[in-house]
Amino acid sequence: MRTRSGSRYSNGGEVVALVGQKRKRSPSAVAGECDCGGRRKRPAGEPDYLDALPDDLVLSILSKLAAASSAPSDLLSVHLTCKRLNELGSHDMVFAKASPASLAVKAAAWSEPAQRFLKRCADAGNLEACYNLGMIRFYCLGSRSGGAALLARAAVGGHAAALYSLAVIQFNGSGGAKSDRDLRAGAALCARAASLGHVDALRELGHCLQDGYGVRRDPAEGRRLLVAANARELTLALSAAASRHAVAALPFAAAAGVVGGGGGCPLLSDFGWSLPEAEPHAANQFMVDWWASRCAAQAGGKKDGDGSGVDGDGDGAELRLCSHVRCGRRETRRHEFRRCSVCGAANYCSRACQALDWKRAHKAQCVPMDRWLLAGVAVGGGVEAQQHQQ
Ligand SMILES: [Zn+2]
Ligand SMILES: [Zn+2]
Repeated sequence: MRTRSGSRYSNGGEVVALVGQKRKRSPSAVAGECDCGGRRKRPAGEPDYLDALPDDLVLSILSKLAAASSAPSDLLSVHLTCKRLNELGSHDMVFAKASPASLAVKAAAWSEPAQRFLKRCADAGNLEACYNLGMIRFYCLGSRSGGAALLARAAVGGHAAALYSLAVIQFNGSGGAKSDRDLRAGAALCARAASLGHVDALRELGHCLQDGYGVRRDPAEGRRLLVAANARELTLALSAAASRHAVAALPFAAAAGVVGGGGGCPLLSDFGWSLPEAEPHAANQFMVDWWASRCAAQAGGKKDGDGSGVDGDGDGAELRLCSHVRCGRRETRRHEFRRCSVCGAANYCSRACQALDWKRAHKAQCVPMDRWLLAGVAVGGGVEAQQHQQ
């Protein structure tokens, strides 16, 4: 029996062996190599309905499948089905529609084929793939120019998270010197991301307006944006809870000021509400897991200087992670991130991360630096408490 393209089907035993072998390979690795090994044998005389479908219709179906896929393995399964689906599944249109879930590569599973898969999707115009690969290259692999170029491509296409990440890079001068910081460009990118409803960008811009950081100071507008960020957060939490059929479980009655525990986070503490924490973006989760595994690998042979999440790179410089545990960004040069001015022990890539972490955990952990000094050096009242910046 032959497919429309003329390739022979394998017999049953070969099919099992071939599928078992190929399932371990990446989509990009199998592209163009399939020899119809995964297709079930059809009884003689029955028509092959797939062969009767025109290519453009099959392509449309595959694109919708890619858009609804929940894991990279869904796309891989298509490629393993038969030669025709392998060829059509390698079309730009399919990779461009790949869903965020199918692009959520785990740090533990990072490999050259995984990178090629993301690159293939990015080349096909998939903005989420551009963003994920851009963040991984910029912050984890140290490819600043390549990562920034991918982030810029996603930002030009209107990817809100990419616009916000570029804003953080501009605010910090990441990948360059301190003099490379461009506060006005950062604020402009942040405003663009905020206009698209990005919560962190709304929060960041709100603090910038309140402090006059990169923009003309406007406390009232800043406050309005912070309220808008909270409202947007509430909307997202409600929609996420509704999708889980758990609206009734929302802890709206949580008391104000109670630090999150048991899965709750007082993101709306200004209003006395406590919301379940949203899942971090796949790129942030990747960076968190990536640096956690690196720190664990180095823990045996290398000790941190102050035990505050400091990680060392190859040339010995101390580069710190953002203290907001769901961020995952790491400094690209020493002392790049802003520090908590009260305790000096927490470091943040942005004001949004600082504000979030303050409500989430740091409010209970922050100990004024003067207490340490007074305890250590018995000085008589010459140390002034610094004010916490938010
Ligand atoms: Zn951060
Ligand atoms: Zn602090």
